Amino acid sequence: MTEQTNHYEIAVIGSGPAGFTAAIYAVRGGASTVLFGGVAPGGQLLQTMEIENYPGFVDPVVGADLMSRMLKQASRLGARVLQESVSEADLSARPFRLKSGGKDYTADAVIVATGAQARWLGTPSEEKFKGKGVSGCATCDGFFFRGKEVCVVGGGDSAAEDALFLTKFAAKVYLVHRRDKLRASFRLQEKLKANPKIEIIYDHVPEEFTGDAKLTAVNLKNVKTGAPRRLEVPGAFIAIGHTPATELVKGKLALDEAGYIVTDERTATSVPGVFAAGDVMDTHYKQAVVAAGAGCKAAMEALLFIESGGK
Ligand code: NAP
Repeated sequence: MTEQTNHYEIAVIGSGPAGFTAAIYAVRGGASTVLFGGVAPGGQLLQTMEIENYPGFVDPVVGADLMSRMLKQASRLGARVLQESVSEADLSARPFRLKSGGKDYTADAVIVATGAQARWLGTPSEEKFKGKGVSGCATCDGFFFRGKEVCVVGGGDSAAEDALFLTKFAAKVYLVHRRDKLRASFRLQEKLKANPKIEIIYDHVPEEFTGDAKLTAVNLKNVKTGAPRRLEVPGAFIAIGHTPATELVKGKLALDEAGYIVTDERTATSVPGVFAAGDVMDTHYKQAVVAAGAGCKAAMEALLFIESGGK
């Protein structure tokens, strides 16, 4: 490898726990390694308030702190961490070719760890009020609703975390869930129930987001009775899960019906020399520690692939 030619033995795309763990294992395995981390390296955990299930942290760790530690660790060990996104990937021949920040890079093995992005309801009124009261990021926008009432849509861990986070600012938080049971973990459910600012509205879905220039209310429908209910809120946070971020590799790697990269149990994709790790291929667990484990596997497999001369 030389920096002049921008060739690396292993290129990692993505900077969540999977990407950074892959980079850490790749450099420690002796490979020249570059990681394309996007403009704000850290992935989804940048928006996570507190993590208390990542082993090794006795007290809860803020998502951004954990990611900053991983970045520093990967850099200290010798990985080149670029705050750029890969705009094009040619995976049709080796060395693989990547374009990023207007430059061309080549790599003997590529690890795709691009994670997932927040899912939207996909309704026209949601689209109309995006950035005008409808948000996909409580950590980014919660501050704007100091003293106001807001709602969160969803029933999983993300929705529960968002609702809890928003109580720091909002006067009241409605958690709107489409079923009569939350999907969120027991521990988060206990915290929700113990918080006097949170009202859980079961069996309801948003029908329409309304307002003039900005959101003023959300019209809900009871899915069991059809009865309407109106929430007068200037803020609505959508937290209904995530979809894998596979735009870059669509048509180049095999994806399943839901868009996840298909891998075998050793993280190999449909293209020899390209491996995938983390939420971009994890259809089930979607946990930071599982993503980190997959990143480790992907790096070990990429090292083996290189050592065996790409066979
Ligand atoms: P999730 O677990 O898939 O939950 C999505 C929620 O949104 C579900 O309650 C679902 O309802 C609801 N939903 C989906 N589509 C909907 C629609 N069109 N209209 C209304 N509601 C809809 O997603 P997540 O909460 O983003 O979590 C993803 C993964 O990350 C999970 O594995 C979770 O454990 C993990 N995570 C962990 C933490 C943590 O440990 N601190 C924090 C955040 C996320 P149903 O329940 O009816 O399906």
